[in-house]
Amino acid sequence: MKLRLPDYYKKFKCIADRCSDNCCIGWEICIDEKTMEFYNSVTGEFGKRLRDNIKNGSFMLCGERCPFLNDDNLCDIIINLGENRLCGICTEHPRYYGWYGDVKEGGIGLCCEEAARIILEYGNSGNFFEEDIPCEQTEDVDGEIYDFLFRARENIFRFLERKDISFADKVSSLFDYGEKIQDGLDFEVYDVSSVEKSDYSAGEAQIESFVCAFEDFEAIDQSWNDALEKLKGKALVVNEKYLTNIFIYFVWRYFMKAVYDGDVFSKISLGAISAAMIALMAEGEDEESYVKAAKLYSKEIEYSEENLAMMLENCYTESGFSAENLVNLLS
Ligand code: SF4
Repeated sequence: MKLRLPDYYKKFKCIADRCSDNCCIGWEICIDEKTMEFYNSVTGEFGKRLRDNIKNGSFMLCGERCPFLNDDNLCDIIINLGENRLCGICTEHPRYYGWYGDVKEGGIGLCCEEAARIILEYGNSGNFFEEDIPCEQTEDVDGEIYDFLFRARENIFRFLERKDISFADKVSSLFDYGEKIQDGLDFEVYDVSSVEKSDYSAGEAQIESFVCAFEDFEAIDQSWNDALEKLKGKALVVNEKYLTNIFIYFVWRYFMKAVYDGDVFSKISLGAISAAMIALMAEGEDEESYVKAAKLYSKEIEYSEENLAMMLENCYTESGFSAENLVNLLS
C-alpha cells in the first residue's frame, strides 16, 4: 500500500510548550482500545492517577485542560511512560488520513498553529511524496473514477500555483472547472481538460449574506461566535500567497473523497469559501494573523463532522456561498 503525503509534511514538529494554543486544552480525547488496555496495566502511583482520570474511555478534562497537562504545559504521560505510550489521537494529532483503495493520503491539519504556519509558508504546490507501508483496512474504489479525479486535482494544483492570475480569477475559473468535472462524473465522461481562465467582471460583494451563512453552524468554541459578530462590517484581508495555499490544502484534503460520494463541486467550493472566510477573519496580511484565523476556522468547520457536512451541503444552497459572491468578495 502507498502512503502519499504533501511535500511539507516532514517539516512538522509539535512546538509543545511554545504553542499558544495547546491542543491538550479544550478537546475531548477518546482513548483507543489498545492504549486503554496498556493504561489499565500500569502499576504504582502513576497507574492509579491514570485510571482515576479516565472515564468512559476518555480523559476527564479539568476545566478545559487534559488532566495530564502539567503546569509547564508538558505531558505527564510522556514524562512518566514515554512518547510511544500516547493514545492514537494524541500521537497523530494534527495529522489526518484518507483511504482510497491501495492508497492512503494524509497531511497535517490547519487547526494546529504550527501546521498552519507550515501550510501557509510551504503549501504552494500540491506536490507530494510516496512511501510503501503495510496494508491497512481500506475501501475499494472505482479505478477509472479515481484516476479521473486524481488527474483533475493535479490540473487544479497546477492552475492554483500560477503567478500570472489573481486569486479571485483563479476562484472564478475553478468554479467553472468544478462544474465541468462534476458533469464528467455525473455523465461518466472521464475526460480532464486543463483549467481555463474565465473572464469575470466583479460586481458588489454581499459580506452580510456570506457571514450569515455561517450562523447556523454549531459553535465548537465560544470565540467563534465572538469572531462572527465582528465580521459583518469588515473587509477581507487578501494575501494571495496564503489564500492560494489554503485553497490547495482544502483540495488536497477533501477533493478525492468525491470518489465515494460523487460530489466534486462542493469540494472546490469548500476551498474557495474557506479561503474567503479566513481572509475575512484575519486581522492583517501577516502570517500570524492568518494562522490565528485559519486555526479558529479549521476547528469550527473541519473538526466537527456535522459542521463539515453542513458546509458541503450549504455550498449549493446559501446565496452568500455562490461563486459570484465569493469572486466579488475576493476581488
Ligand atoms: S496545537 Fe500543534 S503545535 Fe500546539 S501543542 Fe498541539 S500539536 Fe503541538
